[in-house]
Amino acid sequence: MEDIVSLCKRRGFIWQGSDVYGGMAGTWDFGPLGTTLKKKVTDAWWKYWVEDREDMFGVDAAIIMNPNVWRASGHTETFNDPLIECKECHNRFRADKLGDFPASVTREQIEAAGVKCPKCGKMNWSEIRQFNGMFQTAVGVDEGNIAYLRPETAQGIFTNYKNVVDTIYPDLPFGIAQYGKAFRNEISPRDFIFRSREFSQMEIEYFIDPENWEAEFDKIMGECHDFLENKMGLKPENVHELDVPAEDRAHYSKRTIDIEFDYPIGCEELMGIAYRTDFDLGNIQRESGKNMEYIVKGSDKRFVPHVIEPSIGVERLVMAILTTAYTEDEINGEKRIVLALPEDLAPYRFCVSPLLKNKPELVGKAREVYATLRAKYGNVTWDDSGNIGKRYRKQDEIGTPKCVVIDFDTLEDGTVTVRDRDTTEQVRVKIEEL
Ligand code: ATP
Repeated sequence: MEDIVSLCKRRGFIWQGSDVYGGMAGTWDFGPLGTTLKKKVTDAWWKYWVEDREDMFGVDAAIIMNPNVWRASGHTETFNDPLIECKECHNRFRADKLGDFPASVTREQIEAAGVKCPKCGKMNWSEIRQFNGMFQTAVGVDEGNIAYLRPETAQGIFTNYKNVVDTIYPDLPFGIAQYGKAFRNEISPRDFIFRSREFSQMEIEYFIDPENWEAEFDKIMGECHDFLENKMGLKPENVHELDVPAEDRAHYSKRTIDIEFDYPIGCEELMGIAYRTDFDLGNIQRESGKNMEYIVKGSDKRFVPHVIEPSIGVERLVMAILTTAYTEDEINGEKRIVLALPEDLAPYRFCVSPLLKNKPELVGKAREVYATLRAKYGNVTWDDSGNIGKRYRKQDEIGTPKCVVIDFDTLEDGTVTVRDRDTTEQVRVKIEEL
């Protein structure tokens, strides 16, 4: 983990939020390379789930929503984590994360398991109290006018379900997708970008006829595996399913399967697939007084659809991708670090450089090749610093699949050297064939 964090910092992928001011716990800033990687991940998600399908539609809802949303959804009442305090050193912890405990953990269970305070090593625990994870803010000039930063993007989908049906009237089943920021006042943010207070989610609510929920659930599970393993390059042996027992499920879910991933910090939740029934649309119908029924086309069958929700955190996915890609190997007795990212996710597809920086004819030709590749692929970088070996090391570390080098032969025969990140093999290729 430390190696990955240090690479991310050194190469401009991810920095601690506000680090010039000593940081801000639970927040992370993405640098130039991290921003590109994150964008490629969200773009790939959007393409797979929305653009390549006929039954998915996108929305982009506001982060600050009417507080009635969170009352109706149950978040104001139940979006809680169990908080425990060490009575010796007064540090506070999320009780269920002090060991392998359910969310309903009690002080007695913590004591019976002999859990000591991770900070001071003593065992003198307070009672557990429920701590609400929503961030509050005041809207407008009235300080009592409380609103919340959304703790999930899902409610921005449910509140627009009727708008989508009324404007598009898709056949059932259909899904609405949204990605964007979510905020949770985590008791103990930790493990790099794994658990932060501000993060991004990519969520889908897939509206179905409840008669078919099991088949639809299985279909979505299959698609989630396909996306993670075939598009994001995660190794199937590192991806596991956990059928979440009732006492650990969110208040709205009748079935949840967490997809867990073997992170360096352990096997932890990467995404959740939840059968949320008609819980949310039912609440909206009750609280808003508006009808949420779907009328099946060409019939008089009408009902409030149920939903299957695949929900994934962008940062947790980025962390899984970085974990998979990070490799250390040895080439001709020399150690190197390689970020073996899938080609489609690498921040740069090519790096172009002239063999020598002080030969104008090489630089001129290299600039030409650079412009051509940029026009064709977009994400191409230029590097003429240091010697060629150093450039390769740097490009290996940031995951650039191919380095293109322009040398004196290029001027003669129009071929360039293309060096492969993973094998370090070099081949001569005609410029037109790049
Ligand atoms: P956990 O049990 O780890 O707190 P959760 O079950 O509360 O997670 P969900 O409510 O299912 O998480 O949220 C859906 C997804 O959002 C998660 O699978 C995860 O990828 C992401 N996520 C949730 N909380 C965080 C966080 N604090 N930081 C980063 N990503 C998060």
